[in-house]
Amino acid sequence: MSQSYSLIIHGGAGALEDLKYEASEAEFRKSIIAILAAGRQRLENGESALDVVEYCVNLLEDNPLYNAGKGSVLNENAQVEMDAALMNGSDLRAGAVTCVKNVKNPISLARQVLEQGDHVMLAGEGALEFAKFCQATLRPDEYFITPARLKQLAEAKAAGRMTLDHERIKPAQKLGTVGAVAQDLNGNLAAATSTGGLVNKRWGRVGDTPVVGAGVFADNETCGVSATGYGEQFLRTVFAKTISDFVYFKGMDAAAAATAGIQYLVAKVNGEGGVIVIDKAGRCSAAQSTSGLIHGWIELGGEAHCKLG
Ligand code: ASP
Repeated sequence: MSQSYSLIIHGGAGALEDLKYEASEAEFRKSIIAILAAGRQRLENGESALDVVEYCVNLLEDNPLYNAGKGSVLNENAQVEMDAALMNGSDLRAGAVTCVKNVKNPISLARQVLEQGDHVMLAGEGALEFAKFCQATLRPDEYFITPARLKQLAEAKAAGRMTLDHERIKPAQKLGTVGAVAQDLNGNLAAATSTGGLVNKRWGRVGDTPVVGAGVFADNETCGVSATGYGEQFLRTVFAKTISDFVYFKGMDAAAAATAGIQYLVAKVNGEGGVIVIDKAGRCSAAQSTSGLIHGWIELGGEAHCKLG
C-alpha cells in the first residue's frame, strides 16, 4: 500500500471571461469541490484509481455545465456525438468509444470495452449495439440537448465556424471536455477523458479524447494524463503520451512534464488547451496555453483545491 492517494479533475480549458456565458465561477467551483469530495471518499475506502476516475467523470457527464454526457455540444446536424476513453496504469489496459449517441455515460461504456478486453475502441452504431448488450443506460436525444447548446450552435453556424465549447465568436476560447486522473492507495494510476467534442463539428468527426496517447494516457511507471483542447492539435502531437515520455525518458515530475507538454504543443502546432497530470509519486499538476483551465485536485490526501485560471 502506498502512503496516500491523489485525485485531479478538469472541466475544460479556455478564456476565463467566457465562463459567464453559461454559469458563474461559483457554480463551477461548487461542482468541482463536490466531485473531489466524493472521489476522496472512494479513494479513502480503498477503491481503485480506475473505478474512481470513472465515477468522477460520471458526475461530470451528468452535470449539464460541462461538455460531456448531458449538455454535450452539438455537431453540424444539431446532434450529440460523444467520445470517451479511460486507461489503467498498472497494465495499460484501455477502453474507448467514439461518435456515440444516446449513451448516458460514455465513460462507463468505455470501461465496459476495457473490461471486455478484445478491443480498445468501438465507434458509432457498433458502440451503441455494444451498449445495449451491456445494458448501459440509454437516454433519448432530448436528454442531452440543452437550450444553451442550441444557442451556441446557432452562433457558430451564423459565423460559419466550428468552435470550442463555450467559445464566443471571438478569438478568446474556452474548451469544455471533462477528465479525471487518480492514484489509489495501492499506487496505481488511472486516467479518463470524456467529451461532446467541438461545436458544429462534422458528423463522424473523431477528436483526441478517445484516442489513447492523445487525450488520455496512464502508466504506473510514469504518470496519468487527461487533456482538453482542440482535438486535432492533440492528435497531431500525440499529446498525452508525449507528457508520459517526458517523465519516462527525461525523469520529469508532474509539474515539469505538464509544462513541457504545453510548451511542445504551442511550439509545434500553436496548440490551445490544457492538461492535468499525476505522476508516479502522487504529485498533481496542471498546465494550459489558454487563460483558464477549470480544475481541482487533492495531492497525497491533502486539502482540496479548485482553480479556474
Ligand atoms: N478535445 C476535445 C475535442 O477536440 C474538445 C475539448 O477538449 O473541449 O473533441
